[in-house]
Amino acid sequence: MVSYKELGLVNTKEMFAKAIKGGYAIPAFNFNNMEQLQAIIKAAAEEKSPVILQVSKGARNYANATLLRFMAQGAVAYAKELGWENPQIVLHLDHGDSFELCKSCIDSGFSSVMIDGSHLPYEENVALTKKVCDFAHQYDVTVEGELGVLAGVEDEVSSDHHTYTDPEEVIDFVTRTGVDSLAISIGTSHGAYKFTPDQCTRDPKTGRLVPPPLAFNVLEAVEAKLPDFPIVLHGSSSVPQEYVDMINQYGGKLPDAIGIPEEELRKAAKMDVCKINIDSDSRLAMTAAVRKVFHDKPAEFDPRKYLGPARDEMEKLYKHKILNVLGSDGKAE
Ligand SMILES: [Zn+2]
Repeated sequence: MVSYKELGLVNTKEMFAKAIKGGYAIPAFNFNNMEQLQAIIKAAAEEKSPVILQVSKGARNYANATLLRFMAQGAVAYAKELGWENPQIVLHLDHGDSFELCKSCIDSGFSSVMIDGSHLPYEENVALTKKVCDFAHQYDVTVEGELGVLAGVEDEVSSDHHTYTDPEEVIDFVTRTGVDSLAISIGTSHGAYKFTPDQCTRDPKTGRLVPPPLAFNVLEAVEAKLPDFPIVLHGSSSVPQEYVDMINQYGGKLPDAIGIPEEELRKAAKMDVCKINIDSDSRLAMTAAVRKVFHDKPAEFDPRKYLGPARDEMEKLYKHKILNVLGSDGKAE
C-alpha cells in the first residue's frame, strides 16, 4: 500500500473549505494520458490553481493502475519543476461503483474517492457510502457521495433522464454516511449531448441550440439544509461550439452537441459548489486540434506533431476554465 501523502498529493478537505469561503470552485479535470496530464498541470501551475486530477474506472483500466500512480507522483514533481512551490494536487476516483474499487484506489495512492450509489435504493446508497467513508477516513482520504441521478453517458454510468436531488434527503445522508462532499443533480448531464434538441430552444440569429436553465432552486434548497457544505457538480462541460465546429469542419460528425453555459457554472461556483467536473471539453479540444492537423497536413505522421497542438489547445482550455469559469486562479500560491 502507498499513501497519497508519500506521492506529494493532498485530499480535498482544506481546498473545499477555502473555496466555499472564497466563492470559487476547484476544477476537476479527467485524464487518462500523458498529454492531458501535462496540460492540466501546466495550466494549474501557471495559474496557481488547486486542481483535482480525476480518473474514472475506465480511465484507470486504460492507463493502468500502476502507471497511473507514478504519473500522479510525476505530476507533483513536474508542478514543482514549473515553479509551483506547494502544489495542491488531488488524485480522485470519479464514479467509484464498489467498495473494492475505492479501496484499491486508496491502496494505490488516491487522496480522494467518489462512491456513486446514486442509482441504488436510498438505504443501500447510505450503507455503501458509509462503508467507503469509514475505510477512507482511516487514511485521511476524502469521499464524495451522490444523491440524485444525472442524465447522459460516462463510461459505464448512464441514464436516460435525470432525477433532481431531493433536498429533504441531504441532511440524513450526510450525517449518516460521514461523506466529505456531495454531488447533486440540478440538470447538468454527462457527455457532449447534454440536452436533446427538443429540450432546447433555438437562437433565431445563430440557429444554435439554447439549453434549458439549471435548477438553481434545488441548489439553494440544498444549501439551506447544509450551510457551507461542499457541493459538487458533475457533467459540467460547456461543449464550446468553436470546437464542435472545428471537428465538424475537418471531417467529424457531432451534430447538435451542446453543454452547460459558462455563466451558469460561474454562478454555481460563487455559491457552495466547490468542485466542478469537466471532461468532455478537453476531449473536444483534443479532437478538434488533431483533426485540424490531419486535415491541413495529411502527410504528417509524427504523433508529436498532432498531439503537441492538441496539448496546447487543452492547456488553453484549462486556463480559460480556471480564470473565467471557476475563479480558482491564485488560490494555491
Ligand atoms: Zn460524473
